[in-house]
Amino acid sequence: MILSTEQLRKNLDEVIWNIEQARITVSEHHIVKLVIVTKYTETENIRTLYDLGQRAFGESRVQQLKERAEVLDDLPLEWHMIGRLQKNKINHLIDANPFLLHSLDSIELAEALHKRLEAKGRTMPALLQINAAREESKAGVAPEAAIDIYREIAERFDTIELKGVMTIGAHTDDQNEIRKSFETTRRIYETLQNDGATVCSMGMSGDYELAIKCGSNMVRIGSAIFNNE
Ligand SMILES: *Cc1c(COP(=O)(O)O)cnc(C)c1O
Repeated sequence: MILSTEQLRKNLDEVIWNIEQARITVSEHHIVKLVIVTKYTETENIRTLYDLGQRAFGESRVQQLKERAEVLDDLPLEWHMIGRLQKNKINHLIDANPFLLHSLDSIELAEALHKRLEAKGRTMPALLQINAAREESKAGVAPEAAIDIYREIAERFDTIELKGVMTIGAHTDDQNEIRKSFETTRRIYETLQNDGATVCSMGMSGDYELAIKCGSNMVRIGSAIFNNE
């Protein structure tokens, strides 16, 4: 659905206000970046959000990211790849030149990505995805292995610029379980700050305030921006 500027302005204001309320409980200096996830919405809405001041957008499929980056290449946008990356899409992703890949989820994928990047003489900023809630349906490395894997990727693959970690909150209504998954990720992030990590990407429409209170500094929000109420 194509939403009016007024509707999108209202939704965006609300989300930014909620982010502000949550981040101020962490510290005055805690700054949170909003990535608007556009996987279920029309390109027109992205233009409207650009006019409202938003610059960072996320897609979960390489093909759609690439198409949108092309259609909107008159605008100075940041494109974030947040979904699972299949090996056969690596070349397309490199061509799309994303601002940040959030979903690097194994050494094997890092190796495949590195080989393609090296062949093209390119680099890519990325986050290591952590399966903090240990859910079978989710991608990501196990929390107890995350620090070693992060360091191995940093050491072996110089085309991949590791910037931090990403997680998806536990899939449950139990706030305690969700909080635990964010806190697990936050602790890993804190350790990796010694290795240069600066990004802790966690929080979606249903749980971004909690994620921020647990230390997130990058949220990925879709449906809360595109609802029509
Ligand atoms: C879809 C998606 C989001 C946004 O989800 P909403 O609930 O619509 O805010 C965030 N992160 C990832 C990895 C996603 O796939």
